[in-house]
Formats: sequence, C-alpha cells, structure tokens
Amino acid sequence: MTARDAVRDETMLDGNARLNLATFVTTWMDDEARELYTDSFDKNMIDKDEYPQTAAIEQNCQRILADLWHAPDPDSSPATSTVGSSEACMLGGLALKRRWQHAREAAGKDTGRPNLVMSSAVQVCWEKFCNYFEVEPRFVPVSDEHPFLDGSQLDEFVDENTIGVVAIMGVTYTGAYEPVAEISAALDAIEKERGLDVPIHVDGASGGMIAPFLQPELEWDFRIPRVASINTSGHKYGLVYPGLGWIVWRDEDALPESMVFRVSYLGGDMPTLALNFSRPGAQVLLQFYLFVRLGREGYTQVQQVSQDVALHLSSGMGAMDAFELVSDGSTIPVFAWRLKGDKERNWTLYDLSDRLRMRGWLVPAYPLPDNLTDRTVQRIVVRNGLSMDLAESLLETIREETKYLESLTTPLPDSTQHGSFNH
Ligand SMILES: *Cc1c(COP(=O)(O)O)cnc(C)c1O
Repeated sequence: MTARDAVRDETMLDGNARLNLATFVTTWMDDEARELYTDSFDKNMIDKDEYPQTAAIEQNCQRILADLWHAPDPDSSPATSTVGSSEACMLGGLALKRRWQHAREAAGKDTGRPNLVMSSAVQVCWEKFCNYFEVEPRFVPVSDEHPFLDGSQLDEFVDENTIGVVAIMGVTYTGAYEPVAEISAALDAIEKERGLDVPIHVDGASGGMIAPFLQPELEWDFRIPRVASINTSGHKYGLVYPGLGWIVWRDEDALPESMVFRVSYLGGDMPTLALNFSRPGAQVLLQFYLFVRLGREGYTQVQQVSQDVALHLSSGMGAMDAFELVSDGSTIPVFAWRLKGDKERNWTLYDLSDRLRMRGWLVPAYPLPDNLTDRTVQRIVVRNGLSMDLAESLLETIREETKYLESLTTPLPDSTQHGSFNH
C-alpha cells in the first residue's frame, strides 16, 4: 500500500488528462469499456494460438477498417494492429521500401539510395522511420502559399529512388487534410511523363477515423488507386485508451510477402507482421467493443459532437480581438490560432499557455515547422469528453487571461525555452 500510495502521489503532479488539450490521445472511455479493460489487461496480443478469440476479433476490426476505407476486397486486405500509428507508419514505410527494392532488383537497378517524399510538417515518426531504416527524407517545405503538401511541387522531389509519398490526413500542427486526390493526380502526371509509378501512404493517424464519418464524400482513401496503405491511431479518434494503432494495405501486392511472418494458430498458421512481439491485446478488444457499441452511426455522432465543440470554440477564439484563426476545426476537430500582427504586444502565446496552465488547462503554443518557424501558433485538440459546458468555461478563462495579458504595460520576460513540438 505504501508503494502504491507513493506512485499515486508522484503522479498527482501530472496534469489532469481531461484538461489536456494538447494530446490527440483518448482520455475518457465509458464504464463498460473500463470493465472490459480490467477483464482483459492480461491478454498478450501475440498469443494468437492461446487467445484465438482475441485474434479473431483483431481480424474483424481489420476488416471493418478496410471496409470503412473502401479497400477493393476488405476480406483479403492485409492489415495489423500495432501499438500506435508510429509503429504502423514504420511498417507502411518498410513495405514501400521493400516493394521499391524488389522492383529495382528485378530491373537490375541499384537499390542503395531510397528516398521518401513528404511535407516538412510530418509527424516526428516519419523522421524516425527515415533515420532508423536508412531512407533519405525529402521534405517538401510548407510556406504561406503551400501550407501543406498539395502536389504542386512534387515533380522536383520525386525521382527513380522515391519509394513513396506520404499524405497526411490531419496535419498535426493545424488539423489540415492534405488533398490526397490532388497529390495522386500530380503523381499520375509524373508517371505519364517520366514513367515513375510512385505509391502513396496515407497517414490518417487522426483523420482516418474522422473523415469516413464527417466527410464521407471526400475521396482520400483506397478509392484512389494510388493509395497503397493507410494507418490510423485506434487511441486517437478511434476512441480507445492508449496504445493502439492500425495499418491496412490495399491488397496483397501492396505488402511484399517477404515481410510477413507466420505464427502458429489453431493448428495452422496465421500471417503476422509487427515490430514488437508481446503487446497488450486489451485495446484491440476495446476497439471492437466500440465498433459494436457505436456502429457507424454512433461514431458519426461522437465525432460530430467533437466537431461542434471545436467549431464553437474556434468561432469564440476568432471573435476575440487579439487572435486570428489558422484553422477552424472543420477537418478534424482540431484548430489553431495566432496573435494578430496588428500591434506590438507585451506578451506571446507562450504566456497565454502559461496562464492557462495555472488555471488547469493545457493548451500548447509552438512554432510552425520549417519556413514558417517564426510563426507561433496555439492549438486545441477537441476529444470525446470535452463537453460544450467545459468548452464554454475554457473560452471564458481564455477571455479573462487575454484581457489580463492585454492590460500589461511592460513586456513579460521571455523566461521559457520554446522547443519544437512533436505531437
Ligand atoms: C499522432 C500522430 C502520429 C503518431 O501516432 P502515435 O499513435 O502517437 O504513435 C503519426 N502521424 C500523425 C499525423 C499523428 O497525428
């Protein structure tokens, strides 16, 4: 008991997870989910033979996602759960690399210098992928004219060593959707002119579980033939506690057989691929629980409520004199703002972030990447559990703190080190 209390006391100083508006990751699930979690936190996902029902439930989830993302034949799309999108992205990147290698080898060409093309606003997991697996990252810079990857500059970045292009559905910094159809069209033009057939991996860490419900007409998924694979975080808008991710490939051609391992399963074998061996199975059961409990309609309602709250908050922020919106939450329920450049101020968004932290709210401020690093923005991620009432009280707090900061007659000292921001 003493040990338990010691750990509890230590973590008391952590922020309150529900007031953490920095994270995309689930901080609230209902009581039934908690019960199910408690019942199953001893399950190891890798023990497919010992827990065949859990393995079957994982496959069900994979088919549901393949179907949600319009795979041509959801029953035969290779897929796996992972600990999160980062692992899923590693696997997606590795499949692109392996496919490219096989094609180059078959053509008797050199395979020494693979590169991956993506926006400079990618999540840090793509930098890790390139670093760990020795792929040259080619970052297409974001700028005022091109705030995200839109396909227009691809021609300069893509060459015969390009293993693929990453398109992000839900850019971490702003929530923007990169236009997968336009990126694909640009790659079609490149194929026509230069004979390079470059596949797309969609990083749908957040948007993969929003777009199918809130923007069902938007074509960003396997409806676009060039999309080879898609990942999402079950623990973001999949609504499950951390750590769960998913990746689905279009078809067996998109995932080289040489990456697949076979584990024993009910006297036969089952294909698996993953970077980890042991990992919790409970989150997979929670994902299936939510698919059953909410269904398409329920997911749509939950995501719609988050979006309504995001739009309400962003319009409240946009109405305050000091701020202008960078995004409004109409893609994923995430929006960002910056300080208006209309006058000299004695404070920055970092100061507002500090003031809000004193009131319990965690609302990060950070620089935009690359060419836009002189631009500080502040962001709110609206998740299931941030009710309209809480949002209203947050807006009121922001109004009060902004009023205080605007009343300062001398500049606040610049006391904090502002690093870059990775989630
Ligand atoms: C969060 C995020 C990731 C990493 O996902 P984890 O599930 O935290 O590993 C990758 N890409 C994007 C766009 C993200 O938002």
